[in-house]
Amino acid sequence: MLADSGTSKNSAPATKVVNAGRKKEWTGQVVNTPVWRASTHLYDSCADLQAGPKTNEDGRFFYGRRGSPTQWSLAEALTQMEPGAHGTILYPSGVAAIAGSLLAVLKPGDILLMSDNSYDPSRSMADNLLKTLGVTTRYFDPMMGSDIAELICDKTRAIWMETPGSLTFEVQDISAICAAAKSKNPNIVTLLDNTWATSHFYTALEKGVDVVMNACTKYIVGHSDVMLGAATAGEKYYRKLRRTAQQLGHVVSPDDAYLASRGLRTLDVRLKQHQKSALSIAQWLATQDDVARVLHPALPSCPGHDIWKRDFTGSSGLFSFVMKGGSAAARNALIDALELFGIGYSWGGFESLALPVDPAPNRSATPWPREGDSPEDRHVVRLNIGLEDPSDLQADLAKGLEAFRLAL
Ligand SMILES: *Cc1c(COP(=O)(O)O)cnc(C)c1O
Repeated sequence: MLADSGTSKNSAPATKVVNAGRKKEWTGQVVNTPVWRASTHLYDSCADLQAGPKTNEDGRFFYGRRGSPTQWSLAEALTQMEPGAHGTILYPSGVAAIAGSLLAVLKPGDILLMSDNSYDPSRSMADNLLKTLGVTTRYFDPMMGSDIAELICDKTRAIWMETPGSLTFEVQDISAICAAAKSKNPNIVTLLDNTWATSHFYTALEKGVDVVMNACTKYIVGHSDVMLGAATAGEKYYRKLRRTAQQLGHVVSPDDAYLASRGLRTLDVRLKQHQKSALSIAQWLATQDDVARVLHPALPSCPGHDIWKRDFTGSSGLFSFVMKGGSAAARNALIDALELFGIGYSWGGFESLALPVDPAPNRSATPWPREGDSPEDRHVVRLNIGLEDPSDLQADLAKGLEAFRLAL
């Protein structure tokens, strides 16, 4: 019979994604935890109601805003995927998870260090809402390791990282950054956006991270049809996350949580196929005359490739490449010529996407193009390699490269 927690601590990651969170008390006699739609939870008596809210325990009925078995099951599964975790808070989007975790640990007067390759809305959160709340943000070179210690002062409260960056793919030395920060001040909170790898390919808490955030909208959901975010942490920071999420009224719809749990069950096979297809296409692109650079963590040309090799157990389906010479218009002609790639934001779904990207406006501590790189590095194409046959995708990209040459 399935263990009550759904899985054992020592199960391999592929076993965990299948079983985690499927507690008997939540699933009943069926395989998947059903959708429990509820605002009101009913109590047996006044005494029962009066005893209920006081406990505020996880996984206990109280009121719809604190979830139902559908959300608890997903949160529990994400916790089990992350060794060292105590709990997971779900949020209505990845950006809500970023906001919820930063607001849980920062207060007026604090300094936040943020990696310069961070996702644009993370920067926007820092530069706008956090600024008005009296938090100062300083951006740092993503390739900086233990030298981060030099940027830390008495007011430094938190460090936000993203590895690899989701536009430019630098792989950060998270262990070195966390160790250096903690040796300066053990109370500094280290937070990581782990959307690219998920805890399936990168176990962040084991590297010294305190709070690991994931935009489940991408690989956990996996089917481009739900917005959802999560933050997972050890006991101390989990309690802070939970308090803040409850005060902000963050809650995820049970239908969305159900779809995310359903996506999670196939994460292992999906990620392995994304990895295989993306790697073969990235390697092929690297051999094309018109391609200047492929930014994929599993290729030696990517900044931080050695750290990827040391720390990650896999690579996912998202990477960028830069054309030689050309212009934004020629780059756009390449993308417009593709028939199997949709043009749109987001990624991590089963379908391939291409996106025109200019990383330059999203940098402030380190220039883009980086020193020594060519000015054309602003004309970036970002690909989400889906689950189509990679030879079809490659043939489509070959047509795109032809359109680029014609547009020069
Ligand atoms: C998409 C994304 C997010 C935000 O997730 P949403 O669910 O779209 O709000 C955060 N970080 C990274 C790296 C992302 O790609």
